[in-house]
Amino acid sequence: MKRVLWFRRDLRVEDNPLFSLDGEVLPVFVFDTQILNALPEDDKRVSFIFDRVLKLKKSLQAKGLELKIFWGDPVEIFKVFEVQGFDEVVASGDYDAYAKERDIRVSHLLHFRYMHDTYIFKPTEILKDDGTPYLVFTPYYNKAKTLFSKEHIQKYTFGEHSLYKTSYEGITKIDKDKEEILPLDIKSIGFRENLPKIDQVETKLKALKENLPIYAKERDFLDKEATSHLSIDLRFGTISIRSLLCFLAEQKKSGVDTEPFFRQLIFRDYYAYLLFHFPTLATHNYKYRFNGLEDQEKYSAFCEARTGVPVVDAGVRELLQTGLMHNRVRMICASFFTKDLLLPWQWGESFFAKYLLDYDAASNILSWQWSAGTGIDPQPYFRIFNPYLQSKKFDKGTEYIKKWIPELREVDAKKLHDESYLLNYSIENYPKPIVVHKEASQNALAYFKQRL
Ligand code: FAD
Repeated sequence: MKRVLWFRRDLRVEDNPLFSLDGEVLPVFVFDTQILNALPEDDKRVSFIFDRVLKLKKSLQAKGLELKIFWGDPVEIFKVFEVQGFDEVVASGDYDAYAKERDIRVSHLLHFRYMHDTYIFKPTEILKDDGTPYLVFTPYYNKAKTLFSKEHIQKYTFGEHSLYKTSYEGITKIDKDKEEILPLDIKSIGFRENLPKIDQVETKLKALKENLPIYAKERDFLDKEATSHLSIDLRFGTISIRSLLCFLAEQKKSGVDTEPFFRQLIFRDYYAYLLFHFPTLATHNYKYRFNGLEDQEKYSAFCEARTGVPVVDAGVRELLQTGLMHNRVRMICASFFTKDLLLPWQWGESFFAKYLLDYDAASNILSWQWSAGTGIDPQPYFRIFNPYLQSKKFDKGTEYIKKWIPELREVDAKKLHDESYLLNYSIENYPKPIVVHKEASQNALAYFKQRL
């Protein structure tokens, strides 16, 4: 068998299902112009991926293998493999709408073998007794716990391979049948290096070992570093989900309660599961007809971090500067966006998608739908976060707010959680709130009720 091993969300050698099959292989990574053409030249994610692809290439070389790097439209590239007589392409599953559509087009050229990798469970593994998917998280989670077995942490073995003979130099650009070899440099694919500071997985696991015992209690606090920061690694597969589960199993053996962290991983699985079974969720509400109001001014104020609500603006600044945002702040921002500002959740989803380093279609879309109250298993639409109470609870000393909005450094913490102070007093270089929370929530509720 002669196989193309196509790396996508699995940029690692260790425990990679692509290597579990024996035979002649051509490992490839494609810088997909269909995706890249829409991105700015200093996109941090592209720099991160480029860096990790080079690391993958080195790891493969250490195993006597190689990685051929392409730049172009995957369908055009796979036409070449078809001509070269490959039997099949092997890749791990990807459920986002573009990926599915792209894979179908590729499968018309070469037999496509999907391997299970990115999630703990296969999307069809957890179903209700009547064979339909779960629509509520808790029963899904309970079933997941009963079905979870040693098999789910069984790592893939590394097979016997011979490497397909071809040139592995540089980046192969394919453009309408024309092939060109470009230098192995991010500039060759039209980008500028803008590598975010992201710790290696080993460093993160070391910190997680310390944090797991306090994870449940402290994960929501913005000044604590209690979470794993592994979302980007899970997104691009620089850690395998099974390695992470093995790590958790070890911690559990030494008496640590790993359940709260495991639950979050099941959340991640659940969101991918929902998108798999209900692909229209990517753009459409599951529940209710309300869809927000298209107010450009409010949208710009949110995206430019000038809403005058400190925790919201701090979150957006963190996102714009680093590509990251604490989970609690994502929830506060999404609630503020869809309720206080009454903007369409799809706009917020796209804004996050543009900047999040860990952007994952399923987690992002389903979380936005949850916040808007429109999804499957949503937060009830009438539950509206008060951003001031949220910041008072989770950023009491305003360390987080002041880190991202240094203009507020001299303002007393209490005042930054006090809406009436912010509405009535001017702060130099910082805007007044663009909405009054109570009024805005009442407006939102009236709007929702009309459309139930
Ligand atoms: P930890 O707390 O250490 O959690 C461990 C892992 O569990 C995470 O790495 C992540 O893979 C998973 N996880 C944790 N919380 C959630 C959750 N609420 N939903 C799904 N999976 C979770 N996560 C993404 O990976 N990509 C996204 O694009 C994304 N968009 C989001 C948008 C909104 C509006 C909200 C409210 C949440 C979003 N999340 C997204 C979920 C969550 O915010 C991040 O996974 C988390 O902040 C990542 O930090 P961490 O790795 O330190 O998480």
